[in-house]
Amino acid sequence: MSIIYHTIPDLDVEVKEGAQLARISGQFLTCLYAIWYVCHEQGKSPVLTGASRDQVYDHEPLHQMGYAWDWRSEHLSDPARAAQELQTLLSSIDRRWRCVYIRTPGNAHYHIEYDVRKPGPE
Ligand SMILES: [Zn+2]
Repeated sequence: MSIIYHTIPDLDVEVKEGAQLARISGQFLTCLYAIWYVCHEQGKSPVLTGASRDQVYDHEPLHQMGYAWDWRSEHLSDPARAAQELQTLLSSIDRRWRCVYIRTPGNAHYHIEYDVRKPGPE
């Protein structure tokens, strides 16, 4: 099966076919900033592989609410280190951010979420 990507103009982000953003929110742009920074250190572009309106996220409330995004990880040379970098970068902005490196073979990705259900900065 071939996978077709399109590009969000001016944001330098590739979007996997079928990945549907509910909206371009401030949280999405913050997430994009972090993934963009980490990818560009290695001369790569971020690839959004899943967002909020994708059918597969029926059971994942933060995806459904538009506060979680999945990104390609395996095009980076050291995905585990990049995941740590993402977590450090995002949690320095707000502790509600979390980056989880899902290592499932064939479906490895970064799951990045902003948990609006948690209390924010004091
Ligand atoms: Zn996810």
